[in-house]
Amino acid sequence: MERKIYDLGDIVQMKKPHPCGSNEMEIIRMGMDIRIKCVGCKHSVLVPRAKFEKNFKKVLRSSEEPQSE
Ligand SMILES: [Zn+2]
Repeated sequence: MERKIYDLGDIVQMKKPHPCGSNEMEIIRMGMDIRIKCVGCKHSVLVPRAKFEKNFKKVLRSSEEPQSE
């Protein structure tokens, strides 16, 4: 079952907000690790995919047209 609901360039919301107060993150690199950039303070962090998925809440804005399920 394909469970990838986020994609490169998406703005995503994490369960825990960034210390700067923003909880919007942009996905700027996808691979075995995922690099996300805080929309609030532009700080980027590299997190393992498993950790990202654990903290991932939802996609706020998709970079492309949303596909039907
Ligand atoms: Zn931040």
